[in-house]
Parts: sequence; C-alpha cells; structure tokens
Amino acid sequence: MDAKEQVKENLTVADLVGEYVKLDKAGINHKALCPFHNEKTPSFMVNTERNFWYCFGCQRGGDIFSFLMEIEGLDFHQALIRLAEKTNIELPKFQGKVSVENRTKKQKASEILEISTKVYSKYLKHPEIGKVIREYLKKRKIDKQLISDFRIGYAPNEWRKILKYLRNKGYSITEIADTGLSVPKESGEDYDRFRDRIMFPVINETGIVVGYSARVAPGGDEKSAKYINTPQSLVYDKSRVLYGLYQGKAAIRKEDSVVVVEGNVDVIASHYAEVKNVVAISGTALSVEQVRILKRYTQNVKLCLDADEAGRKATSRSIQTCLQEGMEVEVILLPKRIKDIGDLVIDEAKNWKNISKKTIPVIKYFFEESFAKNDSNDVRGKKNIAKELLNIIKDIADPIEQSYWIKKLSLKIDIEEEVLTNVLEKVSLKKDIVGSSRIEQLSQENTTERSNKPKGAVLEERLLGLFALFSEELSGEVKIFNTELLSEENQKIFQKLKTKDVDDELNQQLNKSALRIKYSHDKVQGFIENEIDPKIEWNNVISNLETESIDRKMNLIKKDIQKAEELDDDASAEILQQEWTILAERRQKLKGF
Ligand code: ZN
Repeated sequence: MDAKEQVKENLTVADLVGEYVKLDKAGINHKALCPFHNEKTPSFMVNTERNFWYCFGCQRGGDIFSFLMEIEGLDFHQALIRLAEKTNIELPKFQGKVSVENRTKKQKASEILEISTKVYSKYLKHPEIGKVIREYLKKRKIDKQLISDFRIGYAPNEWRKILKYLRNKGYSITEIADTGLSVPKESGEDYDRFRDRIMFPVINETGIVVGYSARVAPGGDEKSAKYINTPQSLVYDKSRVLYGLYQGKAAIRKEDSVVVVEGNVDVIASHYAEVKNVVAISGTALSVEQVRILKRYTQNVKLCLDADEAGRKATSRSIQTCLQEGMEVEVILLPKRIKDIGDLVIDEAKNWKNISKKTIPVIKYFFEESFAKNDSNDVRGKKNIAKELLNIIKDIADPIEQSYWIKKLSLKIDIEEEVLTNVLEKVSLKKDIVGSSRIEQLSQENTTERSNKPKGAVLEERLLGLFALFSEELSGEVKIFNTELLSEENQKIFQKLKTKDVDDELNQQLNKSALRIKYSHDKVQGFIENEIDPKIEWNNVISNLETESIDRKMNLIKKDIQKAEELDDDASAEILQQEWTILAERRQKLKGF
C-alpha cells in the first residue's frame, strides 16, 4: 500500500471535512453548507460509506486530498505531506526530501514566522527581559495559560534582533522581508519592524502563524502607534483572517454562534471570562471572505464592536455583509459605562459572559441607531427616520413581524400607521420594479442567476441536468420526450447527451451551466437518500416546462388582444380570445385541476 492509501485508511473524509465545516447527520451520511460556494441550504454532502465528498451546488467533489487542496490552496504533494504528518504516516524518504527542496515561498514564510514566534515567546519568559511585560499582562488578566494558548511574545528593543537570528538560520534578507518581519531599506541595512512590542501572533484557522499584531510595550515609546500590524504579505491577507478563530473554532461549533469583537486583546480577555466562541476582525468591518470562513462553523453571528462613530459604521456594514451572505446576525450592546471588553473583563469577568448572551435583533439596533442620529421631534428628523427604517422593514419577510415594527415606528415618531404602510408599499413597489432589493439580489448566487434568467431556461437546465445524472433510469422517459419544448441550443445538447456524443467542449459547457442542477435543498437530500424517484422528478419538470411555454403564449396573445381592441378590430379580438381560452384550459389540466 502506498503512502497515499495509508493516509486514506487512517483519516476519514468526515473527520477531515469536519475540521473545517459544521457537519450535520443525514441518515448515515453528513450534509453541510458548502465551503466552496455561497448557499443558504446545504447541498454539500459527505458519503461515509464510500468515503467521498460532493457538492450538488458547485459540483466539486473527491477524497481527503482534493478537499484539503481545494480549501487550503495546496498542490497534491503539499496536501500529502500535511495529511501524512497528521496521521503519523512516514512518507518514503524521497518524497519528503523533494518537498524540502521545493518548498514554496509561502511555506518558507510560514517557517520563518513559526521560528520567530518561538523566539518572541522565549523573550517574554526571560527572567529580566520579559519581566515588565509579564507584569502588565498579569494586570490585564492574561495568565500563563492564555499566553501559551495565544502564543504571546515579546520583541526586545533592538534594531536587528530577529533579523540577525533568522539570517544565522540561513534565511535570506528577501525571504525575511517577505514575511513583514523586517523593513527593507534600499540605502543601508534592513531592520526589525517590531521593536519593544508585545507580540500577538495572528494564527490562521489551521494553526499556522501568518503575521503579528504588536502592541507598544508599557512604558515604551507611547508616542508611536499603539498597534503595528504585519503589512499585507505573501501569507498575511487581513481580509481573510480572523484573530482567535483557531483557538475558538471548537467553541464556535459547540455554541453554534460566534461573537465578533474589535480588538485582539478583547478576544483573549473573553477567553479568560470563559466566552470562547470569539473572533476579532482585523479591518474596520467584516469582509465577505471573513463571513464565508465563519459560515463554515456557524450561521449565527453576534456583533459586538465599539460604540464610537467608527464602530457603529462598522457594525452597519458588517450586518449588511452577513445578511448578503445569508447569515443570521444579531448585535450585543455593551453598557454605556464600559469602553471595551478587555476593561469589562478585568473588573467583572462574569458579567461579560452574561452580556454576551444578551443580543438584540438587528432591526432593533437600527432603530436605536436612527433615533440617536436624528431628532424625532422635528419634521425632518421624522422623515429621515421613516426613510431609513422603512428601507430596512421592507426586507422583513414575515408580515406579522413587519407590521409589528411599523406599529412601533408609528408610535415612536407619532405618524399614523396607515401613512407609513402606504410609504412602505411604495418602497416595496420600487423594489419590485428594479427586480429585488439589494440584499436579496446579492444574497445568493443561485437566486441571482435565477432572477436574471427566464424561468424556462432554468427549467431546461434542470431537465438536462437530471438526464445527465440519471440517464439510465430515465431512458424510457427520454424516448417519448417532445424535444420541441427545449430551446434550439438545448435541443442540440440534448441530442448529444442522448447519443453519448459528449466531447470536451460540451462537457465544459455542461459543467458551466446546464448540468448545475438547481434543485432546492429538499430535493438534493431526497436524491441522496433515494427518496425521490428521478422519473417522477423528470415528469414534474416537464409539466412545469409545458406550463411555462403555455404562459408565454398566453401572454403574447393577451398583448395582441389589447392591440386589436385598441384598433377596434372586434373580429380578431374574438378569435384571439378563443385561442386564449383553449390555452387556459390546457394549462388547468396540466396543473391537475
Ligand atoms: Zn458547493
């Protein structure tokens, strides 16, 4: 058995995938939200019996190696090394050696950052060099356990400490500069970026150090920036990393929610208070990429950002991003007297645990925001408030909830409910004309695709998709299928599928569009569990396709009738009317009335 097979024997797909994605049981299999495409209902599944993964949405699939390659952006060889390490399987010498020589730039950068993290940690433990820092951390309730969990360290106050250390280890000036540890200088020598600073390594979700957030040491040069971060580098992309995710991911899964805070120290303090499902954003607001990473662990986001102007803006932006990505989002408000979570935890650790559980709905948050910003006693203020909030209320899907918030708004700005409802209808109408609201538009790849494409085209794709997947089961149905229901282009594709004349070009085309089966979640599940018969599904789609084609004809006739009436051409109008009635009857029969 070769190394690849050995690794596969020792690590199931479910175990590996489960480290990245929240898996739910579905019979003997598992399902999850796909980490590779944006979706609201799971179409990603892990087949435990046959030990493979597959996504019905984006049609990716494979074994443990292809999963790791895809999710971590590795080549096969890198994936093999990683999984061999994980399963304690020794790779044949030559395989290991090749890898050392062919280390990518990225891997080298990771090595350098791992070494420097160890060095910084040693300085923090040093009896004299790290003394002041250790005392400071103790005051901030950052104990030994947390220092070790978060790999906190100290960069001494020297110009070329880490640089020299790494040079002695054989790394080149460029390789070191690539990690952001040194500042390159064209005239003269490079020097250490981080001097006399507390080092908080930024660790990615797989446990690899990708950069640092460095706080000025207490009593150090307080005039300089309080925090210096690793600049964007080969391995550090601040829009794709979440501080604390690595240490918090188990808790995030267990609690099925994540608390998003602003500062790294807030994350550590939070762990001290036993609130471990926490991450910090490294930018101003949550990025789309960050939300997509979080989505692999939970659907529920609780935002607890600073209460200042910038923090409030970041909250609004983050809410939007979360909603667009189909996440559930709520807000945690800190009591007014408290500046940040770090401070809160120092004095009343238990209190943070309680506060972190008290969330308010997003809409309530927007209410508070809008009323704080505008004067609700003044006409202009009322108008602004109504405009801002109705714009949000219109997106609430549940009518009872919607009417609840309208009533609330009406009471608070003292404007009659009826007036607000009227305005709301106008806002919603506008939304219908444009297509759909922005949030809805962006909310899901599938929905957008669907709204852009005529319904018939989507049905045709479904039909082709079904046929391609279940060609044997459907051979009888296909024989009696009236291909005229399809567009000319799809007729050709259908013919080729039927004669199994699938060349590379068609294959690509099918992969791109036609074969993406856009069934709802229930159907995908049904196929997986053999509850849905492809034949029944085939007939469903065809009857929808027929209805759709009748609808199109009926619409055309209706327009012609209108024209005829405008021209006072009663005879034509009469004939058209008859035609229309025949179609309407056929449509009713199709629908089973
Ligand atoms: Zn997918």
